[in-house]
Amino acid sequence: MNQANFLEQLNRCSNAFGPTHFGKERTDMIWTYCNSLDDSQFKRIASQFISNFKHAPLPSDFLKAFYEEKKAEYQKHPERQHEKEVTREIDCFSCYETGWVFVKIVSSEKTIMMFCSCRYGQKEEIQNVGSAVPPWDPKFEIEQRFNRLPFPMKAFVPNSEEREQFFSTGHNDIAERWVKKKIESKKFWKDMYDDFLLQANKKQT
Ligand SMILES: [Zn+2]
Repeated sequence: MNQANFLEQLNRCSNAFGPTHFGKERTDMIWTYCNSLDDSQFKRIASQFISNFKHAPLPSDFLKAFYEEKKAEYQKHPERQHEKEVTREIDCFSCYETGWVFVKIVSSEKTIMMFCSCRYGQKEEIQNVGSAVPPWDPKFEIEQRFNRLPFPMKAFVPNSEEREQFFSTGHNDIAERWVKKKIESKKFWKDMYDDFLLQANKKQT
């Protein structure tokens, strides 16, 4: 997106919600989140906020809208999700751009992966369409079901303790363990989903 268009749309938001909501910090954040959208997509986001929001949208609202736009774009043009993304200065530290976060299941202490709530997670979600893997939601922590763990960078170091802790043992090749962990996670969520359906059916009959 062209920076002039970006500022023009933010200016529309400033006019609608008041000029104090989009200081430099927030403007920079919004730019970081949304600059890979095209002009019309960002304009549509601004218009939606102006028409639907009672209060000024936060950078996180822009990020959410960014995902929605990207999702719609990928559904329309599936080939675009394979295009190389523009490298940015700030990216997601929750998943280190893998799209996957590690969570601890509170009831069993087991470590499993789910999709990150960022755009990389969104991409994984689209690529694994039909899987029962949920995207991370802070409410999981509030409900005390899952706790999100910091991304275990050390687990990628050969023969580290973290490697044994986060990935199943066996082959020392991290790529292979990563793939296995994804398969294990997908199976975990699928089983949980099936179980949920089974319980729901039991209640009905
Ligand atoms: Zn992420």
